[in-house]
Amino acid sequence: MTLSQLDVPLSFLRIFAFVWGSLWGSFVNVVVYRLPREMSVVRPASHCPGCGAPVAAWDNIPILSWLLLRAKARCCGARISPRYVVVEALSGLIALAVLEVIVRALPGDTSLLHAASIFLADFALAMGLVAAAFIDAEHMVLPDPITLGGTVFGLLTPSLRDLGWTDAFLGAAVGFAAVWLPFVVGYKALRGRPGMGLGDAKLTMLAGAWFGWPSVVFAIFAGAMQATVAALILYGVKGKIEEPESVLQDREEIQKAAAEGDVEAIALLEADPLATEPGEGVLAARLPFGPFLCLAILEWMLAGDWITDRWLPWLAR
Ligand SMILES: [Zn+2]
Repeated sequence: MTLSQLDVPLSFLRIFAFVWGSLWGSFVNVVVYRLPREMSVVRPASHCPGCGAPVAAWDNIPILSWLLLRAKARCCGARISPRYVVVEALSGLIALAVLEVIVRALPGDTSLLHAASIFLADFALAMGLVAAAFIDAEHMVLPDPITLGGTVFGLLTPSLRDLGWTDAFLGAAVGFAAVWLPFVVGYKALRGRPGMGLGDAKLTMLAGAWFGWPSVVFAIFAGAMQATVAALILYGVKGKIEEPESVLQDREEIQKAAAEGDVEAIALLEADPLATEPGEGVLAARLPFGPFLCLAILEWMLAGDWITDRWLPWLAR
């Protein structure tokens, strides 16, 4: 069976995609909370972050429950972060966008199985990127299961994007080297500390594995531009850019342990750029770059062809 033989109203497919996306968004929220805390993402079932009580299924409906409960847990009244509803709505919209922009652009004689595989793969990548973005924003860490797992997934599925094996492997190599050489190795040689994390290099490696080297060029430049705009806005509105709470807490613990003579903590203080306070001013401010890289990779996934056709013909492959 092919796409053109599919006899289902488009409105049904759209609603299905949005609901499907927001349900997975619920799971992404669990991943964002548990992965950096090294908890299992599968067990136990959802529980209240305030008091630990299990959350009933009807209080766990994407978007609706948060709105109906007015952002308060039913059990103990603990405030539920708006991040939950934002991630669920965003995931629903992304699933809808993959359907509209990618699946509906496929030729009518594409088999349903192939179209469904493309939808699932692109949607899975998007969910990984959303999770990575929110985790990096909160903890300044890009977890390996997402960056490395996502790279392997991309290397195994290039045919879903009309990409050759060579393009995928070359893209991954370019993606890693493009951040690792100048920003990790080079910057460290000049300034004594890496300017970007290894996590960022693994994320651009993922981009290259999925979409080839042009996506790496785009992700770095578009990511940097968007990060700069965000930094200027944050600086303009707040007067300073604060590091996430959990980074401050971690640093306090490491510095305390180092002061007590802990060898591992002392080594970490020397190697980890996050272990010391940033300097003053907008240029020295530390903004996690991961969320902006994730955003740029998503933009490339959904609009890469449009961007290259219209603006960057030299990047077309
Ligand atoms: Zn509670």
